[in-house]
Amino acid sequence: MSYSAAFHCIEGCPGSYPVDQVIYRCPSCDGLLEVRHEVAAWRATSPARWRATFDERYMRTRFPYGSGVWGKKEWVQPHVDDDNVVSLMEGGTNLMWATRYGRQLGMERLWIKHCGTSHTGSFKDLGMTVLVSTVAQMIADGADVRAIACASTGDTSAALSAYGAAAGIPVVVLLPADKISAAQLVQPMANGALVASLDTDFDGCMRVVQRLTEDPTVYLANSMNSLRVEGQKTIAVEIVQQLDWEVPDWVLVPGGNLGNVSAIAKGFHDMVEAGLIARSPRLVCCQAAKANPLFRAFESAQSRDGVVTMADYAPMVAETTLASAIQIGAPVSFPKAVKALARTDGLVTEATESELAEAVARADRTGLFCCPHTGVALAGLEKLRASGVIAADAKVVVVSTAHGLKFTEFKSRYHAGTLPQASQTPNVPIPLGADPEAVVRGLHDALDRQRER
Ligand SMILES: *Cc1c(COP(=O)(O)O)cnc(C)c1O
Ligand SMILES: [Zn+2]
Repeated sequence: MSYSAAFHCIEGCPGSYPVDQVIYRCPSCDGLLEVRHEVAAWRATSPARWRATFDERYMRTRFPYGSGVWGKKEWVQPHVDDDNVVSLMEGGTNLMWATRYGRQLGMERLWIKHCGTSHTGSFKDLGMTVLVSTVAQMIADGADVRAIACASTGDTSAALSAYGAAAGIPVVVLLPADKISAAQLVQPMANGALVASLDTDFDGCMRVVQRLTEDPTVYLANSMNSLRVEGQKTIAVEIVQQLDWEVPDWVLVPGGNLGNVSAIAKGFHDMVEAGLIARSPRLVCCQAAKANPLFRAFESAQSRDGVVTMADYAPMVAETTLASAIQIGAPVSFPKAVKALARTDGLVTEATESELAEAVARADRTGLFCCPHTGVALAGLEKLRASGVIAADAKVVVVSTAHGLKFTEFKSRYHAGTLPQASQTPNVPIPLGADPEAVVRGLHDALDRQRER
């Protein structure tokens, strides 16, 4: 039996569409599409054989199977020929024991899945390799594609620009002016993308890119394009693989446009379907309080039967948050997130600016180096742990979505004490002059003061 996949409407409309068709929404109901695979083909191979295959390929040289995404090619995008895969060796990221930070929360089994330790510094690489490879295959098959375009809060444009440049396919990125970090802006510039800076927010950029990609020769790379979900779902497979094929109890992930939480839920679901695992962990989607439409929906459902539905959804205007990549008030993948929560008995948390900044600072002081979005997830963990929802002996993974080095302005401001709110543990360099004796005396004094604290 051969591996195959097609787009289907998530609302259940009949019909399916080839994965290389330029289509982003259901033609009948305008709902979101998702990629569905021929699961019978997966089941023709035993779970033990799949585990062995994935382990044999993992982080090895054979192109493209050493990639964390393409090592699972039959589950991700079997349609693309190996020759057309555009891979920058994404995935295979560190699942790090957060020993000291975990102990501070009274936990012994806490890991951070460092998805930001990746070519462009965020998990967006995982989805973008699938999308750009699919476009490369379309071009090889004769399609007329002038460019791939996206709206972005920073990391999507960085990933698209890198993969587009690696493939030699032109890229257009639409960014909200002054709302992304310097590191995020410089990546598309360096990779030669056409960068448009718009006087609006992410949601405004999203409206423009949808208009732009009405032209079928400009291919849309936002997460409304469900090819990206197929790459990002490998986060779930990789977590289980790195835990020697055991399922954690909880997985926490920051959510903005809500593509990633949906993708991770799909990854666990696929593993259940293929018989690799017996159950999914419970997912927690963690939002910034300044941009929390899913949290609000979750709260309103709590006052009822607890099950979030589309009726609970009210788009909002997101306010400025340090977690700039999740400053989204009208998340495109909201309907998918509703399903993800239902399938995984999921929860939603929110974090204030001060909570996310202090969670990052606490984690960093134990050797981590987190971005503000990961801080939102850590703050969620701290709250669920304090309330006892997450037990001390639970096996927990926090998905870190970007590299801390992409967000140094945030960290500098925290430690300089120049954020709008006060910083609890700022740490700034001590000016000690140049006289060796004075420097040494100053350092001894500082060490003594530190010990007293
Ligand atoms: C894109 C992004 C998110 C949010 O992911 P969604 O799929 O939009 O929910 C979180 N953190 C970082 C660093 C991101 O780049
Ligand atoms: Zn439909």
